[in-house]
Parts: sequence; structure tokens; C-alpha cells
Amino acid sequence: MEEALIIAGIVIVAGGGGTAGLVALFRSRRRSAEPGSPGPTGTTGTTTAEPPAASTTTAPPEARPGAVTPPDLTVPDHVAEPAAPPARPLDQPPPSAGRLARLRGRLARSQSALGSVLLNLLSGATLDDQTWEEIEDTLITADMGVAPAQQLVAQLRTEVKVAGTRDPAEVKALLRADLLAQLGPDLDRTLHTQRHGNRPAVVLVVGVNGTGKTTACGRLARALIGDGQTVLLGAADTFRAAAADQLQTWGDRVGAETVRSDREGADPASVAFTAVNEGIDRRIDTVIVDTAGRLHTKTGLMDELGKIKRVIEKQAPVDEVLLVLDATTGQNGLRQARVFAEVTDITGIILTKLDGTAKGGIVIAVQREIGVPVKLVGLGEGPDDLAPFDPEVFVDAILGD
Ligand code: GDP
Repeated sequence: MEEALIIAGIVIVAGGGGTAGLVALFRSRRRSAEPGSPGPTGTTGTTTAEPPAASTTTAPPEARPGAVTPPDLTVPDHVAEPAAPPARPLDQPPPSAGRLARLRGRLARSQSALGSVLLNLLSGATLDDQTWEEIEDTLITADMGVAPAQQLVAQLRTEVKVAGTRDPAEVKALLRADLLAQLGPDLDRTLHTQRHGNRPAVVLVVGVNGTGKTTACGRLARALIGDGQTVLLGAADTFRAAAADQLQTWGDRVGAETVRSDREGADPASVAFTAVNEGIDRRIDTVIVDTAGRLHTKTGLMDELGKIKRVIEKQAPVDEVLLVLDATTGQNGLRQARVFAEVTDITGIILTKLDGTAKGGIVIAVQREIGVPVKLVGLGEGPDDLAPFDPEVFVDAILGD
């Protein structure tokens, strides 16, 4: 049955407040089954959406024996074939390993000013109270946070005194070790994106609009595909049609299908459910679900993300909840992180636009603020400018090693 041109539509009676609406989700024929469209991942093709079906129907889905269906999902009897996307060669993204080292130049460009100010102060003629204060201020200005900056300065001050050295290379080595310690070199930054038995890994991507969330989903898909995995995207940011289009465009470039609704305001949980359902059916390695980033009210956000997670977990556990933060937003970004951490269990942070700010101290501040590691960083607008975070490469880029 799966080999046929499957056009499964799901009509969802969007619940809540008595304002019911119908949404249709369609998936297109698998391009991988067509000659000449192989793709490295085995997951080629795109998913398109149809306009909402008018008065379709209510039979339970039978796509997969034993499939779990949330109570508000129904299937239309209506089948439609979406237009085939224009054929174009798929991109072959590079693997994710060593990306930060490759993007080091960009990291150094944005962050080395911090390192050179610190090293200049440390190698000046006098290292008195005022100089130590300036060092602390420099770290605070780099968004590191007051407490970590004070801690680092106290530690470094003691070490310099105990070592009885002012040798620039030795002082630099001490600073390097202290910065590294603040970054938590032993934090587990593993991205849990490996398939488990008969189900895909599920990655939920959350964050405020404009932080680079959708771009991060697309770039994460590329990175995983570069590592040889198969990926399916779920466009659960249903409040902006443009977000689904954007996600689908990312997917199309690397042969990852996108499950989406073309109706703005459709139930995001239903899109997420369908994406994971498809991921299971197609034996995909990782399903990445993009969510809406409206910070309306804390309760609203909690309800929305909570529902998405609950509905997904009817079929498969959520392996990662990645919070996307814009590194250029400083205290505002930290406030966002706090709110998201209160409403959902964040497992990792994607810090974007680190190329656009010299304030790399935000890595330390945000990890400390919500107690989860920065797992990925964005260093530009290019398709492969998302890299696994590596504290050593980061510190060396700051200090110019
Ligand atoms: P969303 O609203 O959170 O989904 O944000 P988008 O994914 O649409 O991204 C907003 C803008 O940020 C786009 O112009 C992206 O190209 C840009 N952007 C995303 N990540 C980065 C990054 O790491 N560096 C830079 N310079 N720009 C980025």
C-alpha cells in the first residue's frame, strides 16, 4: 500500500472554543520512487498542501495498522494529487563534524575583539584592582553575566597571584582554562537524532519568531542529511504560511519532505502528529518539527507546546526540544529562554547569529540561566552555517589561538 501514490489527507477538526475548522494535510508522491531522483537520503520529494476540504469526513485513519490517533484527528475520503515540484538536483550538504572549526574564521571575526581586550588588560604594566575591574566589565559587556564574570575574575586573579607570573603566554593559558571551565566543557552536547528501533528520533524546535528558528530547522535537516540520515520536516508553525513555504524550500533542496497544512491557523499539534506518523511509516531517521514562535501569554505558549508534545508522544517520545535564541538580543534573549524553560523541558539551545555580535559571553549566560547546553550555533546566513558547538574551538577563536 505504501508503494502506491499515497495521498493521505487528514482533516482535523481544530478544537477549542467551539470554532471548528477543517484542515487538510496531503503528502505527495515519493520522488525517490521515480527514476532520476535518488538523493543521498532516500527521502526525496516534497509535500504539498491542498486547500481545506470542504465537508470531508470522519473515518479513522487506517494508514498504518495499530496507528495511534488522537481523538480530534479524522481522515477525508477525498484524495488529490498535488502538482509535482520542479526537478532540480539535490544539494549535497557537508557532514556536521568539524563544522565549527571550518567556520572558525567567522567566529574569530566576531569574537576576537573580546579576547584582545582581555589579553591587553592582562599584559599591561599594572594589574591592579582597577584593571581587574576593567576585565570584569569587559566580560559583562560581552553578555557573560555578572556572576560568571565575577567568578572568572576571582579565579584568574588568584591563579595569576599563585603562579607569580605575568608572562603573557602563561596568563593566556590560565584565562583559556577559566573561560573553558565557564563554558562547561563536560556538558553533554550530543544531539539525539538517531532512530530508535521502529521509530524516528523527534526534534521539536521552539523559540520566538525572528530568532532564526525556521532557518535552524532547515539547516539542521541539511546537517543530518550531510551525515547520511533521512529527515522529514513538520511545519507546525501554522500561523504564518510563509514559514511552511520557507521550511519546504529548505527541505526540497536536500530531498527532505515537509508535512504541512496550507491553512493559516491550523492546529499545530495535528501537523506535528502527522509528521511523526509519516516519519514512522517511511522509516525516517529524524523528524524535525518547527513550531510557532509567538510569545503571546505564558499560559498560551504552555498550552500550545504542551499539546504538540503530548500529541507527538502518542506515537514516539520527543528526543530533543531545542530552543532557538538570537545571540544579538542579549538580556531579551535570556528573558525568552527563561519563559520557554518554564513552559517546556528544553534539552538544548541553538544560538543563532553569533556571527552578528561580539558578545559571545551569551553562551555562558544562557547555559547558566536555564541549565542546558548550547548544542548548535549559527554563524551566518549560508545554508551550512550551523555548527555543533565546541567549547575549545570557541575559546580559541576568542583568544586568537
Ligand atoms: P524565524 O522567524 O525564527 O523562523 O526566523 P527565520 O528562520 O525566518 O530567520 C530570520 C532571519 O535570520 C533570516 O534572515 C535568516 O537568514 C537570519 N538568520 C538565521 N540564522 C542566522 C545566523 O546564524 N546568522 C545570521 N547572520 N543570520 C541568521
